Amino acid sequence: MSDCIFALATPVGRSAVAIVRVSGSVLPEKLVKALSIKKEKRGVFIRRLSLGSFSDSCLVLNFPAPGSFTGEHLIEIHTHGSPAIVGELFSFLESLGLREADRGEFSKRAFLNEKMDLSSAESIMSGVFAESAEELAALEDFRSGSLGEKIRKLSKKIESLLVEVESQLDFSDEEGVVSVGASGVSSELSFLHGEAVSLIKSFSPLKKDSLKKRVVLSGEPNVGKSSLFNALLDERVAIVSQTPGTTRDIVRKALFLSGVEVSFEDTAGVRDVGGSKIEAEGIKMAKEAAASASLCVEVFDDPLKMSRNIGSSLVVLNKIDLLNKAVSADGFVAVSAKTGAGLQGLRNEILKRVQSPVKENLVSERIYLRLEAASSLLEQESVGLDFFETTAQNLRDCLKELEGVYGVFDNEVVLDQIFNNFCIGK
Ligand code: GDP
Repeated sequence: MSDCIFALATPVGRSAVAIVRVSGSVLPEKLVKALSIKKEKRGVFIRRLSLGSFSDSCLVLNFPAPGSFTGEHLIEIHTHGSPAIVGELFSFLESLGLREADRGEFSKRAFLNEKMDLSSAESIMSGVFAESAEELAALEDFRSGSLGEKIRKLSKKIESLLVEVESQLDFSDEEGVVSVGASGVSSELSFLHGEAVSLIKSFSPLKKDSLKKRVVLSGEPNVGKSSLFNALLDERVAIVSQTPGTTRDIVRKALFLSGVEVSFEDTAGVRDVGGSKIEAEGIKMAKEAAASASLCVEVFDDPLKMSRNIGSSLVVLNKIDLLNKAVSADGFVAVSAKTGAGLQGLRNEILKRVQSPVKENLVSERIYLRLEAASSLLEQESVGLDFFETTAQNLRDCLKELEGVYGVFDNEVVLDQIFNNFCIGK
């Protein structure tokens, strides 16, 4: 029996609707009462939920066990999307003894209750984390289940061969068992090995940078880094001033650039600061941030001082509204933080540089490695005296690897590692 968990399934912040999911093998009576639902009645209900000093009109979706995502009793509460309402609902659920779910805990329960296999859980998550339509297209075989189908077909063929080989081992002296020669088995093995290799060759492992993409704005004081930072985010976050040395701490703010989450960082302008210890510390931090960034944007405000794109950094000429003649932006991006000219082009260029290149056909790295291991077990080494014994053992191990794709595990640690990469509320 599992305890009762809850989580916000929609992004944190203000929105039209916020969805809080609750799952458990037993739901607290007080919750059922507060939502005025019947435990076993599946459906969608409009309810006015009282949360202490106020109430909110909610949509309640009731999925009694086992017909739910997790296989347990699952309730979705759709409130109005205010962090204050969600906060109060969380306190209410905690007061009833519910606990906030760990990352991926809903999916893990779905897996443990045999609602879906591991490969399906991973494929759902790969879609949630996809950064572009190209990446979703590359994930199509994995997400639609057609790769899973191919692996099952291969497993079935391996199983049939194993049956043949084992019958040779167990009953080769008995009448009625058709004897298959080593050469027949060996040619069947190399055929299956060929199939496994071509399956692997048609896919690439999906490698996700665990680190968020960081774009650092750097350059001399007063070139307009803070202004550009605010303009890119379309929000006044960093202080803009003519006084050099205003930005000292690193100012960070994340933004989605068409599906890719990018953290922008405004840093202290690099200059000779003489005695100012605080600004010197800011400059040191700025240099470190630039060195470890996914992309460093070098900002200039004078075409004569400017270098062109060198190495991995992106060169930006700001304040083009002050120039009396147009510049031909070759090897840099020309913008004005003040008028907004060139900003969309700059966003596109940043996106192009931070987006991971998409390979053609993707599958989770875990499954890819299992397929490789399974394939190498089909590679036959020699046809010796113990050929049938060795082959039977290799085929059994190979099937184990393929079963692992769907998650036939007995290891809680491995499961936790996998589900910890999921979202909260999933
Ligand atoms: P930082 O020190 O590099 O962060 O520069 P700031 O963003 O604080 O800007 C320094 C000064 O340049 C401020 O007075 C801004 O108003 C001005 N500035 C920034 N961007 C532009 C621009 O595109 N055009 C013009 N005309 N002034 C700008």
